[in-house]
Amino acid sequence: MMKKFDVIVVGGGYVGLSFAGMLAQAGFQAAVIEKRHFATKKISGEPSRLLAINTYSCKMFAQNKLLTSIRALGQSINHIRVVDYNSTAFLDFAPEEINQANFGYMVEEHDLGNALYSKLNKNPNLTVIEGAGVDTLDVEPSHVCISLAGGKISAPLVVAADGRHSLIRALTGIEHHRHNYGQHAVVCDVAHELDHLGIAVEKFMPTGPFAILPKRGGFSSSIVWTLPEDQHDALKTLSNEEITDLIQERFGGYLGKVRIDSKLRSFKLELVVAEEYYSERVALLGDALHAIHPLAGQGMNLSLRDANTLTQLLVTQRSLGLDLGSEHMLKEYRKLREADNHLMIEATDKLNRLFSNDFIPLKLARRVGLKLVNNAIPLKKAFMQYASGL
Ligand SMILES: Cc1cc2nc3c(=O)[nH]c(=O)nc-3n(C[C@H](O)[C@H](O)[C@H](O)COP(=O)(O)OP(=O)(O)OC[C@H]3O[C@@H](n4cnc5c(N)ncnc54)[C@H](O)[C@@H]3O)c2cc1C
Repeated sequence: MMKKFDVIVVGGGYVGLSFAGMLAQAGFQAAVIEKRHFATKKISGEPSRLLAINTYSCKMFAQNKLLTSIRALGQSINHIRVVDYNSTAFLDFAPEEINQANFGYMVEEHDLGNALYSKLNKNPNLTVIEGAGVDTLDVEPSHVCISLAGGKISAPLVVAADGRHSLIRALTGIEHHRHNYGQHAVVCDVAHELDHLGIAVEKFMPTGPFAILPKRGGFSSSIVWTLPEDQHDALKTLSNEEITDLIQERFGGYLGKVRIDSKLRSFKLELVVAEEYYSERVALLGDALHAIHPLAGQGMNLSLRDANTLTQLLVTQRSLGLDLGSEHMLKEYRKLREADNHLMIEATDKLNRLFSNDFIPLKLARRVGLKLVNNAIPLKKAFMQYASGL
């Protein structure tokens, strides 16, 4: 017999799992299908990729009771400093300036996944189907049917949160725009002599941004080192000592001597933007809808705003006794989210182009620009509020 749900979420990454959790907490019968297995152990030596979870997302996790305590999981972001490398230009962001205690938390992705899973797996409204990939879906006039190894399931709405290479997006025929930045982000853990005090630093190098993200405990950070493809390939031929020297040069001396504390992991950077938010009875969410440059640490935060909007719309549909997969609601989803998403997609794309560059007029412009913004208090506040999701 076909099992019926209110909503089926395909993809149990941080966005899909959080969204399915929000639905379940709101009383919907939700299913999340994930092709991997959840609750994995961290592999020794693997870098702890950190996710910057902004103030909005922290509130969203708390209000929807998705996590017991984000404070216990992560490192508070107490201050952010943006530096143009090899110049005196910088931008300082302090949470007090926008009446906040901090800018959110840096959380290890592994810890976030495990915490979400262990909390949500206990919710009787949520059915977690793991180790099962979706291969086909059939859209009928009143519902969508998905075939899995264990049988068929259906719902009036399917939400595709299956990542930037989304199969569901392809199956529905929604086109997407893909731009290869010709860059990789190298991530690794770095131990250092001095306490980072919860300060996150982003250095804009001619080759791309170099972010130093504070980890819990004070004496180690995770770096996100953006490099053009040729330099990324060249890095692989260097010894650990040579790479340490390059990292030390980029840190400067503010945290004392540094040491590489994990393997290096690389992420190919590309911009992926779907041309539509939905097709019949299928909505896109997360990286399946928009995968952006990580320089501002906003990809997941942005998607959680989409997830919250879609949840609110579904609550309204249910309260009015209306179809949970109606085109009217999906149109509203796009209408409510497209301006905010467009702004962030454009901002991260343009910032990367502006800063990953050694062109002299641009160098001068960004030095002047950073100094101007640092002194323009209302503009700075607007940046901080936007990045915090306030
Ligand atoms: C280096 C780097 C640093 C970043 N830092 C930050 C940050 O600090 N803050 C922030 O907000 N964002 C950050 N981001 C962005 C963030 O990581 C992504 O936006 C977010 O993880 C996307 O989550 P997702 O759930 O949409 O997709 P994914 O994480 O890709 O999850 C998709 C899931 O779907 C599953 N799946 C795929 N196909 C199927 C199928 N057919 N059936 C079933 N399951 C399927 C996959 O196994 C996967 O688990 C960063 C990104 C990078 C690359």
